[in-house]
Amino acid sequence: MASKYQAPRGTFDILPEQARARARLEAAATEIFARAGYESIATPAFEDTALFERGVGRSTDIVRKEMFTFEDKGGRSLTLRPEGTASICRAYLEHGLHKQAQPVKLSYLGPFFRHERPQAGRYRQFHQLGAECIGTDSPLADAEVIMLLSDLLEELGVPAVELRLGSLGSFEARRAYLEDLKAHLHAHEGELSKDVRERIDINPLRAFDSDDEGTRGVMESAPTIVERLEGEDAEHFAEVRALLDGAGTSYVVDPTLVRGLDYYTRTIFSFVCDRLGAQSEIGGGGRYDGLIEQLGGPSTPAVGFAAGIERILLALDEEVPTAGRDAFIAIADAGQRPRAMALAVELRHAGLSAEVDLAGRGLKGQLKHANRIGARRVLILEADGNAQLRDMESGEQRPADPGKLVDEMRGGNP
Ligand code: AMP
Repeated sequence: MASKYQAPRGTFDILPEQARARARLEAAATEIFARAGYESIATPAFEDTALFERGVGRSTDIVRKEMFTFEDKGGRSLTLRPEGTASICRAYLEHGLHKQAQPVKLSYLGPFFRHERPQAGRYRQFHQLGAECIGTDSPLADAEVIMLLSDLLEELGVPAVELRLGSLGSFEARRAYLEDLKAHLHAHEGELSKDVRERIDINPLRAFDSDDEGTRGVMESAPTIVERLEGEDAEHFAEVRALLDGAGTSYVVDPTLVRGLDYYTRTIFSFVCDRLGAQSEIGGGGRYDGLIEQLGGPSTPAVGFAAGIERILLALDEEVPTAGRDAFIAIADAGQRPRAMALAVELRHAGLSAEVDLAGRGLKGQLKHANRIGARRVLILEADGNAQLRDMESGEQRPADPGKLVDEMRGGNP
C-alpha cells in the first residue's frame, strides 16, 4: 500500500538492490584513494552560508539559485553543502593542516544538495566522491588527481568516457582574458540569449556553456584562453599534458571548457559519457590556487575533482546480484529455537553469513525462503537434537555431525 508521503522532489531512496552497485563503486573508490595516499575526510552536511558565497562564488548558478539556505534557531544563516571543496579548505585551515607536510591529500564521499530542476542524472540531493591535493602547484598533482578519476572509471568499466582538458591560466592572465571576452560579448549583445546577456559582466565564461543557438554562433569566434596561455601558465599546462601522455591517459584539449564554480585557475577538466543524455558530465575539477587565500588562509595552491556517484551508476547501468548467504538455519521443531539462534551467532562469529527463520514458517516455507535469499547451505535442526545438512545447489541432504555443526557449515567434510 502506498503511503501518502513521498520522498521530497529531486530526492530518492536507495533500496537494497541499488545499494549493492553503490557499495561496489564506493569500495573501488576507497581502494583507489587509499593506494594513492588520499586519506578520508568528512565535513558537516551544512556550513555557514558565507563560506559558500565566498568559496564557490557569488556569480555562480550554485550560489545565485541553487543553495538550500535556512536560518537556525540562533539566527545564523546556514546552507546545506552544495559541493565539497570549500568545506575541505575551511577544515584545512581550521585544523592547521597547512602546518603539516605538504601537500595534504584528502578524499571524500557523501551527500550534497542543490536546488536544481530535477531530471535524469540531476537531483536535489545527490552524492559525490572526490579528492583534493592541497599545498602544491606541481603539474604532477594535476595529473595525479585526473588519473585517480580515470582509473576509477576504468576499473568500474564505465563505457564511452571522454576526458576534456583545458586551462584558465593564472588569475592575472584570466582577468586580462575576461576583459577581451566581455568586449567580444558586448560587441555581439544582440545575438546573445537573455541569460548570457545579463551576465556578461558577472560571469562571461558561462557563455561557452550555453545551449542557445545565437550564443553558440557568437562563441565560435570568441577568443579562448587556451590559445593565449603564456609563460609559466603555458609551461604548466604543457607539463600536465605531457604527464597524461606519458601515462597513456587519452584526452582532448577543449578550449571552450568552463566549470560552474568561480575558484578555478590553470588546469580544468571534465569527464563526460555520451550515454548519459543531457547531464553527460560524470565528474570534473581543476586547480584552485586562490581559494584558500580567499577564505583567509595563506596563499596555497591546490587541485582536486568531484564525481557524481549517481551519474557513474547511470552510465554503468548494472545490477549487482545479491551475495546470497552462506547458511540458513531451519527450525524443524520449535524447541530448537535457542539452539538455532546460538548457532547462527556462532557461524557469524566464524565469519559466515547466516540467517535463521524469524517468521515462524513451517519447514517447507523455511526451505523456500532459504532458496529465495540465496542460501548455499541449510542446516535443519530436528526435535531429537539431530541435524540435517542440505546443499541448496545440488539438493543433496545428509545427516550432520551435531558436535561439529560450525565446521560442517564452513564446508569442511568431516
Ligand atoms: P560540480 O561540483 O558542479 O563540479 O559537479 C561535479 C559532479 O557532480 C558532476 O560532474 C556531476 O556528476 C555531479 N553533480 C553535480 N550536480 C549534480 C546534481 N544536481 N545531481 C546529480 N549529480 C550532480
